[in-house]
Amino acid sequence: LFGIKASHEAYVLIKDQVWSEKLARFASFLPELQTGLPVSEAYKAEIPGTDSDLNAYDIVYYSGDCNAGSKTIAINLPNDETVQLQKGTRRLQLKNAMRAKFDIILKPISEVLIDSSQQKHITFDAFFANTMFHEVAHGLGIKNTINNKGTVRNALKEQASALEEGKADILGLYMVQQLHKKGELEGEMKDYTTTFMAGIFRSVRFGASSAHGKANMIRFNFFKEKGAFTKNANGTYKVNYDKMDEAIRQLSYLILTLQGNGDYDGVVSLVDDKGIISSDLQLDLDKLSKANIPVDVVFEQGIEVLGL
Ligand SMILES: [Zn+2]
Repeated sequence: LFGIKASHEAYVLIKDQVWSEKLARFASFLPELQTGLPVSEAYKAEIPGTDSDLNAYDIVYYSGDCNAGSKTIAINLPNDETVQLQKGTRRLQLKNAMRAKFDIILKPISEVLIDSSQQKHITFDAFFANTMFHEVAHGLGIKNTINNKGTVRNALKEQASALEEGKADILGLYMVQQLHKKGELEGEMKDYTTTFMAGIFRSVRFGASSAHGKANMIRFNFFKEKGAFTKNANGTYKVNYDKMDEAIRQLSYLILTLQGNGDYDGVVSLVDDKGIISSDLQLDLDKLSKANIPVDVVFEQGIEVLGL
């Protein structure tokens, strides 16, 4: 309740020095990207901490809460806004766990649900970037309301996490878009948007009850309304690249404004209206289960696996 309850977990990680150097570079763009956010000035006045560190790791052991349910592929800590503003955040990208989810889950999902002409745009590099920038994007935007309602987290109570996750997803894609324009990211922009679309199907299979699940459904239904994708007669989904830009801009605007206003009622009605899995989408998700595509990975780990 109210995002106060805590649980415990621990990871054993091996740092990937080469990738970490590449990732460190992107954090330096945060202030500039904050200034460019598609929202009114008052909602982007905060200055994101730039001493945040962003690193890639291979994970060798999950324990506690992180090994109990869905397996995380990226970590962003601390959650305390005061510390975030003063010190920035530490973001960890778990590369081998991402690779496993891409090969075993995302790629097969796209073969069932993404338009055949767009499947070539499903790439691991895009999946890695989208996941990475989701974490970085938690540092963008607004932490304190602009109308004396205190922190966004307190003002939005139990709705805060769903909206914050939705913000990180959409602003992550916004960051990719901006950095791609600057020539900082390789590949086609279509790789990132198509892989992002397939990623919604992957995430929504965890259900619409979690914060991530609700955020995913809001984005899916918002994109649908804006024509950012359409469904083909054969049941696959096609991304409309020309409409995607505007949908990203409008959803970013909506979320940042709700957060900055600490608009609890506005968030509740958004979640009620769009945070749901339609029966049509449920049928598509059922196709994935019938195709035996797993929802998540399970780790074989520990001293037995290491032969110790
Ligand atoms: Zn997140």
